[in-house]
Amino acid sequence: MAIILPELPYAYDALAPHFDEETMILHHDKHHATYVANVNAALEKHPEIGEDLLALLADPEKNLPADIRQAVINNGGGHLNHALFWEILSPEKTAPSAELAAAIDDAFGSFDAFKETFTQAATTRFGSGWAWLVMDAAGKLSVISTGNQDHPVMQGLTPILGLDVWEHAYYLNYRNVRPNYIKAFFEIVNWAKVSELYQAALA
Ligand code: MN
Repeated sequence: MAIILPELPYAYDALAPHFDEETMILHHDKHHATYVANVNAALEKHPEIGEDLLALLADPEKNLPADIRQAVINNGGGHLNHALFWEILSPEKTAPSAELAAAIDDAFGSFDAFKETFTQAATTRFGSGWAWLVMDAAGKLSVISTGNQDHPVMQGLTPILGLDVWEHAYYLNYRNVRPNYIKAFFEIVNWAKVSELYQAALA
């Protein structure tokens, strides 16, 4: 048993010109693959804790032995974050479900206000990290950002939508201009999939 690198659900060039092929190849085959290799190396030292990364990361202090704790936070989080990221992208345009659209309106006032809040979080995350649309235990949506590969479950939150703002995610195509990468992201969000994740998180 080991954590497996998932295949992309589309071709490497499918998201171009928004996300270019070379970035997708490096991002999936090198960066994500390295998180998978490193989390497996860490987990092998403690077979007694199992491989349920979400459960382990829900309470790292309690669930992760000190000698592998940060490695699992970094690389287990890195694996889960990227696995979600690939899933919520698509070259095909889809719309949010009526339920998700209503929940976004409730939480942010409007879809445009949500996009603005999310863009702000993604733009202002200093250094490496992620911007997220998350659901709390009461079913309420909010936008947060996390540093490095910290997973929202570490704050008791379920991610519905995530954007990688590490430079490795955009530097080849967008250089230092992170805001253009964030704009491009919104062109390729798979809202049908995000709506599924929203329903699953409610259940
Ligand atoms: Mn990444």
